Parts: sequence; C-alpha cells; structure tokens
Amino acid sequence: MLDTTTRTIFSEEHAIFRDSVRKLFDRALLPHLDDHERDGIVERDFWRQCGAAGLLCPTVDPAYGGPGLDFTYNAIVQEELSYAGSHAGLIIQNDITADYIQAYGSEAQKQRYLPKMVAGDCITAIAMTEPSAGSDLKAIRTHARRDGTDYVINGSKIYITNGCNADLVILAAKTDTARGAGGMSLFLVETDTPGFTRGRKLDKIGQRSGDTAELFFADMRVPADSLLGTENEAFSYLLTQLAQERLSVAVTAQAAAQRAFDEALAFTKGRQAFGQRIFDFQNTRFVLAGLKTELQVGWAHLDWAIARHVAGKLDAAAASAAKLWHTELQGRVVDAALQLHGGAGYMNEYMIARLYRDARVTRIYGGTSEIMKEVIGRSL
Ligand SMILES: Cc1cc2nc3c(=O)[nH]c(=O)nc-3n(C[C@H](O)[C@H](O)[C@H](O)COP(=O)(O)OP(=O)(O)OC[C@H]3O[C@@H](n4cnc5c(N)ncnc54)[C@H](O)[C@@H]3O)c2cc1C
Repeated sequence: MLDTTTRTIFSEEHAIFRDSVRKLFDRALLPHLDDHERDGIVERDFWRQCGAAGLLCPTVDPAYGGPGLDFTYNAIVQEELSYAGSHAGLIIQNDITADYIQAYGSEAQKQRYLPKMVAGDCITAIAMTEPSAGSDLKAIRTHARRDGTDYVINGSKIYITNGCNADLVILAAKTDTARGAGGMSLFLVETDTPGFTRGRKLDKIGQRSGDTAELFFADMRVPADSLLGTENEAFSYLLTQLAQERLSVAVTAQAAAQRAFDEALAFTKGRQAFGQRIFDFQNTRFVLAGLKTELQVGWAHLDWAIARHVAGKLDAAAASAAKLWHTELQGRVVDAALQLHGGAGYMNEYMIARLYRDARVTRIYGGTSEIMKEVIGRSL
C-alpha cells in the first residue's frame, strides 16, 4: 500500500477519499489488471464503476454533477492508479479534458458532456499529436474549414490515449493555415460523427493496459457550436492547461517510482544468495538508501507543487520542472529496482518488469524531457 504518512497536503477528508479509491480499485481494478494488459484496453464498465464511486472529474462543479473539489483529489486518484500499476486513462478525463470543458466550454457544452463524464458514461480523449507534429504542435495539418453553419474537418491524429474507448474527443485543428500557433482551434467531436474513424490500437512496449489509437477525419462535418472556446485561440488554451497535465504526469511518475522501490525492497528481503539475503549486501542497502532519499525529496517536492497548483501559482516552467524531475527519477528508480531483482526483473510475471516498461514513456508524452528543458530555459 502506498505510504502517505509523511505527506503534508492531505487532510482527514483526503484520507477518507483515498480509502474509497483503494476500496474500489481492490474490487474493480486489481483482479483485472492482467486482463487489461493482455487486451490493451480497460472495459467501459470500470469507468462506470469509477463514476459511481465518485472518482471521476473531481474538479467538476456541482452544477454539472461533479463534487467541486480541487486537484488534490485528482492527485489521489492518480497516485493510487499508478501505484497499482494501471494505465487506465482516467488521467485524461480527470486532469485534462474536464478542465478544458469547464474553462472554455459554452453552457450548453458543459451541460451536455460534463455530467456524463462524471458518471463514466462518456469517455474522453484529447487529440493534438499528428504523425508529422508532436513537440512542434503549431505544425499540425488537421484542418477545419468553415462551411455555413458547420466546420468540415480533414486530417489525422496519432498516439491518442483512450482513442479506442473515447465517446468524445477534444480535437486540435488549424482554422487559419496562414498562421502558425495563432491559427489553431479546439473542437468537441463526438466519435459517432460521420467521417470519424479509428485506426489501429497501437502496440506499445509499455502502459499496455491503456488504449492508444490513431484517429482519422475525412470530410467530417461538425456543427459550428462544436468549437470549444474562441476560434484560433487554442494555442493559448493549451499553454494554460499544459501545466496541470505536466503536474499530473509528475504525480504518476512519483507514485510508480515508489511502487518500484517497494517491490525491490520486498524482493531483496525475500531472496538469498551466498548464504544471506540480497538485502544484507551493503551494495543493496546503499542502492536502496539512495533511492529512498530521492523518493523522500520527491514526495516533498510533489506536495509543494500540488499545493502551489491548487493555489493557482504553479507556472509553466515550474510544472515542466516537476514533470522533468519526477519522470527522470522514475527512470532511475525502475532501472535500479529491476537490477536488484536479477533475472527475475526481466520476466514479465514480476511487477517490476511492468513498472520498467511502463516508465519509459513518461519522459516522452505530455512533452518530452527536452521540451521541458526548453520551457524552463526560456523562463530564465
Ligand atoms: C503512449 C503515448 C500516449 C500519448 N497520448 C497522447 C494523447 O492522448 N494525446 C496527444 O495529443 N498526444 C499523445 N501522445 C503524443 C506525445 O505527447 C508526443 O509523442 C510527444 O509530445 C513527442 O512528440 P513526437 O512523438 O512527435 O516526437 P518529436 O517531436 O518528433 O520528437 C523527437 C525527438 O526530438 C526531440 N525534440 C523535438 N523538438 C526539440 C527541440 N525543440 N529541442 C530539442 N529536442 C527536440 C524530442 O525531445 C524527441 O527526443 C502520446 C504519446 C505516447 C507515446
């Protein structure tokens, strides 16, 4: 179980909420983890159970069916999910799409989508990346052309989390091709819209329990009121919202790193070599002591970052620094923890193998480590 005794930002209410998250995951998630890994997707019923238990969209206003809490509750869901070793794409809905709709949606859009998202009846995705544009988002080619009371959208997206399961996609498209960042808009696209098709469920080296897909749009006609916010303003929305997305990845990275450490500690205490426990070699204790120290620093920093975000003070550079540091920490911890498992660590039946595979991408998605350094560097 994830030890939270040294955390500084959580109250008794948080403890009760965390307990309800654990109870649901014990019942509805942990018994199915291997099925999710095998199938490459989480069944929709799990989303509904999360909705019924109050785990979806913690920050959504009660006017739209949500509990109206703050990001500390999102962090609890994400910590527990990540510590469990699951990559069910709740992070997209809880930490990203719900906030885009709350921040920029019309009253009609909020009424139409948020209550269903809170209930787990509407699964969402956010589609920005394209085969030819990831880090350089302003280079996207998906294009939305105004035609009377509609927009007609053509293009494609790649690596989209929840892409297979999604009922609703927040789609980034160019509405003014003559402009770069200033010519992008966001659309709320229902996935049963004619012209919308899903491509392959992508075959990833890790995070196999979450679905990741290609999406295609061929003369896809959406009503003009599908526009989210103002035309050509998407880039400023993305810059605003990316801070929370990056902090979320930092949360998952820290919790997964802690799980890897806990796995290594248990394994080395249980296995013998040269007539003693692996744990009793000085090297093992020194490696674990070093990781423990880094994790302690990590939790303190994470609590600082979450509290700062809840206070509205976590700027883009600080959020990028959090993502950079915690994901790089995760990489170091999973590598050392796997090494302490010896050959067992390379076997998929051991949790550490999954944690190792799952960790690699956190330095890539949500903005690569190199882009994080660019953002931080530009703020200096
Ligand atoms: C499992 C997974 C899930 C994802 N989920 C989503 C999702 O739900 N929605 C979505 O829109 N996207 C998603 N992505 C896409 C992800 O955000 C991008 O892969 C990421 O931003 C990097 O873009 P890219 O793959 O095009 O790499 P590129 O931008 O082509 O980068 C290639 C390399 O060049 C480096 N590089 C690029 N620019 C610079 C620079 N200026 N300075 C220095 N180095 C640079 C990068 O750091 C990287 O090392 C997901 C990706 C994965 C793998």
